Amino acid sequence: MPIYEYRARDEHVSCPTCAHGFERLQRLSDTVLTVCPRCGAPVVKLISAPSVGGSKSGLDDRAKAAGFHKLKRLGKGEYEKTY
Ligand SMILES: [Zn+2]
Repeated sequence: MPIYEYRARDEHVSCPTCAHGFERLQRLSDTVLTVCPRCGAPVVKLISAPSVGGSKSGLDDRAKAAGFHKLKRLGKGEYEKTY
């Protein structure tokens, strides 16, 4: 299943989860998220290019730079950041 990356459309209307982007495991048939599942702020789907490699690690680097740590998988499609 592909992993989609989402990020708050407006960083002023966001929670810590979507402000820096989050990943969501979805089936192709699943509807694309339009709002953050945590805070309901509008989110946009980021273009992810798995074939390029480095796209994901780039996100990790930005997340680390922003004070985020590795995302811990909680369950089906749910991720929680670990402190
Ligand atoms: Zn949010």
